[in-house]
Amino acid sequence: MTDTTASTAIDARARNPLAFLDASLDELRAKGLYRRLRVVESEQKSRCVIDGREVITLSSNNYLGLNTHPRLRTAAIDAVERFGAGSGAVRTIAGTMTLHEELEARLATFKHTEAVLTFQSGFTANTGVIPILAPEGAVIVSDALNHASIIDGIRLTKAERRIFPHADMDALRTALREVRKADADRTILVITDGVFSMDGDIARLPEIVEAAEEVEAIVYIDDAHASGVLGRNGRGTVDHFNLHGRVHVQVGTLSKAIGVLGGYVAGPASLRQVLEHQARPFLFSTSHPPAVAAACLAAIDVLETEPELIERLWDNARHFKAGLQRLGFDTGSSETPITPVMVGAGALAHRLSDRLFEEGVFAMGIGFPTVPEEKSRVRTIVTAEHTREELDACLDAFERVGRELAIV
Ligand SMILES: *Cc1c(COP(=O)(O)O)cnc(C)c1O
Repeated sequence: MTDTTASTAIDARARNPLAFLDASLDELRAKGLYRRLRVVESEQKSRCVIDGREVITLSSNNYLGLNTHPRLRTAAIDAVERFGAGSGAVRTIAGTMTLHEELEARLATFKHTEAVLTFQSGFTANTGVIPILAPEGAVIVSDALNHASIIDGIRLTKAERRIFPHADMDALRTALREVRKADADRTILVITDGVFSMDGDIARLPEIVEAAEEVEAIVYIDDAHASGVLGRNGRGTVDHFNLHGRVHVQVGTLSKAIGVLGGYVAGPASLRQVLEHQARPFLFSTSHPPAVAAACLAAIDVLETEPELIERLWDNARHFKAGLQRLGFDTGSSETPITPVMVGAGALAHRLSDRLFEEGVFAMGIGFPTVPEEKSRVRTIVTAEHTREELDACLDAFERVGRELAIV
């Protein structure tokens, strides 16, 4: 009997070697974690059509509305007409175009650094750069809430890892001193997000820099959610805290507030030169299409000439956050346009998100494994494009649904 069952199971596996995928899906469904992708059917503005319904979105990283800005559209179209649709090769063969070099020079000036190297995305920037800065024998000290691409970048190294509890400066200092005391020469790399993407809090960069300087560690900041959001004209966290020259490596993204796609690393010229020779996504994956580089250049023009966009973004963020707090919602530790609405259980976060969607507001429910189950939330992101009427309509929906689900 047992034998027959076992051999039947073996037969079934032999027939379908991918059967474990169905088992994974069954498990996700059983835990209530199975999600369908929502499909955006219109341009992405503060109001858009998603899954056939017109909604106000609070889920886009398009902080400044640049992805539909006329200057970016025109730049992209012109680049397609002049240079075509694709770039043809990796950067080290025939894939470095004038536009790529122009964008990098422009970004270096913008960031006040010697050099910039762009990557296909912020994700590939982290996985490309971290292994170069942390050779075997180095130690990486990383905030527990750092982005998945930092975690994967670290996994690609043979360095020792020390993860400190989120924003715990005492734990950071202790780890750094311990490592330095044991070895005076070891390379130490401290990595932090600039703005934490699920909580919307800002890294305590002045303290991180001081702690790192004490032990001569490299400071590496990933400014994905701060690019175009924090600092003068959106120059990022280093500019926000006026720490120019004291943070060695700044990663940024061109995919969020900049409105297009890509990542970059800003730092010394020597870093760029080594990355050109050794960073694997740079060496082995094709460069950006000309339209992407051209639209990013136009986005920097906009950042420099239309600072009112960033002012409006922050005005809107303050208005919306204060509104949620007045209604009694728990907005966690947010200090930026990312505002989580903390609800506790994952199922409740998804329920809140689903009900808001029915009420015409798109805000993602986020639960395990992105955040711990008991810290499940609905994450909201306000942009410069939202009108006060739209934000107030969102607050009304939060109030109605929040009461209905007994969250407030
Ligand atoms: C979004 C994000 C990335 C990835 O950037 P992409 O350009 O979308 O690949 C990297 N790091 C952090 C902190 C992010 O929030």
